[in-house]
Amino acid sequence: MMKVHSSEVLQYVTDEGVQLYGGMGFSADAPMERAYRDARIARIYEGTNEINRMLAVGTMARRAMGGKLDLMTPGAQITQELMGPPSFDMPGSELFDMEKWVINNLKKAVLMVAGQSAMVFGPKLSEEQEIMMNSADMLIEVYVAESVLLRTAKLVSQRGEAACAAQIAMTKVYIEHAVDIIEKNGKTAINSFAYGDMQRIMNMGLKRYCKIPQSYNTKELRRQIADAMIEGEGYIF
Ligand SMILES: Cc1cc2nc3c(=O)[nH]c(=O)nc-3n(C[C@H](O)[C@H](O)[C@H](O)COP(=O)(O)OP(=O)(O)OC[C@H]3O[C@@H](n4cnc5c(N)ncnc54)[C@H](O)[C@@H]3O)c2cc1C
Repeated sequence: MMKVHSSEVLQYVTDEGVQLYGGMGFSADAPMERAYRDARIARIYEGTNEINRMLAVGTMARRAMGGKLDLMTPGAQITQELMGPPSFDMPGSELFDMEKWVINNLKKAVLMVAGQSAMVFGPKLSEEQEIMMNSADMLIEVYVAESVLLRTAKLVSQRGEAACAAQIAMTKVYIEHAVDIIEKNGKTAINSFAYGDMQRIMNMGLKRYCKIPQSYNTKELRRQIADAMIEGEGYIF
């Protein structure tokens, strides 16, 4: 999952790098042309990203079917939660309470979609590659979002909140991005395999699990990150 994610981040970053150079970005005389080309191969070698996405979900499904990974218990809890009245459980107000709450819900969204698609298709899930790709993207995003959060929380515990303002901003920007990707892929997957009441309930569940109770001003957060970089005159993290 990290290979897939980081190779695509690298591609995005080098693409933006070409853009920053404008017309010169396209020329081999500027450094980004080489960086862009070098980044491109990372999505192909060490297992192409398409194959690795399917591997991630396939491995999880196989472990669950072989009894090595318990997806049934949390899956059943989610089903019960979706059938019951909406929960009024809200996050606390300490630093990262809301982000932890959001990530906990995102995990439920992933379990709901990946678990239900595995139940519907069983061993034939491998023939539903588009759905596996959706589940893989959801899985990757929740994994990265939680890693970003844990890493920033660790930094804050070492350096204090004020010294980590830019990292905190990056964490929030990332979590919002992850929520959007998870919701989009979840919706596409659900509408590909669920019908009628099941589709309605799952789409409602997805909305419930892809919610950020207090919206972020990502424009300001992005400016805050950019200001820190401009002030530091380089990559300061
Ligand atoms: C610079 C470079 C260095 C390399 N280094 C090594 C090395 O050190 N060791 C090594 O073993 N190999 C190496 N390789 C080979 C590399 O691992 C393969 O190119 C890679 O695994 C893809 O295989 P392929 O080229 O046969 O493409 P194919 O398998 O033909 O795939 C073509 C495209 O179709 C997609 N695709 C295939 N099957 C599916 C599917 N079922 N569903 C959806 N999409 C699919 C692939 O993702 C890919 O985008 C290197 C390649 C390059 C270019």
